[in-house]
Amino acid sequence: MEIISDVWDKIVAGLILPLLDFNDPEKRLNYFYLLSSVLFAYYVYYKAKQRIPFYKYIFSKKVWLSKSAFIDYKYFFFNGILKVALVFPLLTYWRYLGVTINDWMEESFGLSSILLTESQIILYYTLALVILLDLRIYLVHLAMHKIPFLWEFHKIHHSATTLNPITQYRLHPIELIINNLSHVFVSSFLIGFFDYFYAGSVDIITYLEINIFTVLFLFWGSTLRHSHVKLKYFHELERYLLSPFQHQVHHSNNPAHFDKNLGSKLAIWDWIFGTLIRSSEVVKIRFGLGKNEDGNYNSFFKTLYMPFRNIGRFLVRKRN
Ligand SMILES: [Zn+2]
Ligand SMILES: [Zn+2]
Repeated sequence: MEIISDVWDKIVAGLILPLLDFNDPEKRLNYFYLLSSVLFAYYVYYKAKQRIPFYKYIFSKKVWLSKSAFIDYKYFFFNGILKVALVFPLLTYWRYLGVTINDWMEESFGLSSILLTESQIILYYTLALVILLDLRIYLVHLAMHKIPFLWEFHKIHHSATTLNPITQYRLHPIELIINNLSHVFVSSFLIGFFDYFYAGSVDIITYLEINIFTVLFLFWGSTLRHSHVKLKYFHELERYLLSPFQHQVHHSNNPAHFDKNLGSKLAIWDWIFGTLIRSSEVVKIRFGLGKNEDGNYNSFFKTLYMPFRNIGRFLVRKRN
C-alpha cells in the first residue's frame, strides 16, 4: 500500500511541477514573459500587416491544436513526473561535487590567500554562471547534433512540425537526463570553485542564478522562440544574442539550416564556432525533420521508442 501511495504522490507532484514554471522568473513560461511576448507578437503582427484579427493570429488553431502540439502537451506533464521520480534523485549525488571541488582545492593549494568580498563573489559568480551555463547548453546541444546516437534522441525536439511555447518541454527522457546532469555538474563545480575564495558559503547566494541578465533576455520575447511569430532582432545584435526567429531557423527542415544556431541566450558561441545564421540570411522556413521522417514521429509513443528502434537497427546492421 505504501508503494502505491508513494507512486501516487510522485505522479501528483510531477503533474504540478511543470505548472510552477508559470511563476518561475527563470523559465520562459513565466506569466510575465508570456505577457511581454504577446506585446512583441503584436509588434510583429502589426509590421507584417496581417489581415486576420490579432487573437486569431496568436491563437492560431493550426499551431495550438495540431497533432504535433498535443505531443508537446503530453511531454509537458510526462517529463514533470519523470523529473520527480527519476531525474531529481539522480541529481542529489552530483550536488556533492561542489564540496569535493572545494576540498580538493584546499588540499592541493592550501587555504586561499585571496578572499573575495560578498559583492565581488556575487558579481563574479553570477557572471561565470551566466557564461558557463550558456556555453554548457551550446556544447551539449552541439554534441546532440553531431553524435549520431545522441541525435536520435534530440530528433524528438526537432520532430515538432508546429512550434508553441510548450514545445520547449518536448525532450526525450534521455535528453532530459543529460541536460539536467550537465547543468548540475557545471553549477556545482562553480559553487565549489567560488567557495574556495569566499569565507561564507556560495550556496546560500545561489538565488542570484535569477540574475538581471536572464530576466532581461527572457523579457525580450524569448518565449516566442517556440512559436510561429517571427520576432527578429537587429542584424548586429543577432551576433551577440539569439533572437526567437534564429531559434526557429534551428527548427527548419531545410538542410542549409541544419546544425545552426545551437545556442541558448548568447549567439557568440555560434559565432565563434561558425554555426551562426542571422535572420536576414533566411527567407522561408518549415518546421520538422522533413517529409521523409515527420511521419515516424507523429505520436507520443513513437517519439519515445523510435530512438531505441533506430539505434537497435543500426547496431544490428553493424554486426552483420
Ligand atoms: Zn537542436
Ligand atoms: Zn527548440
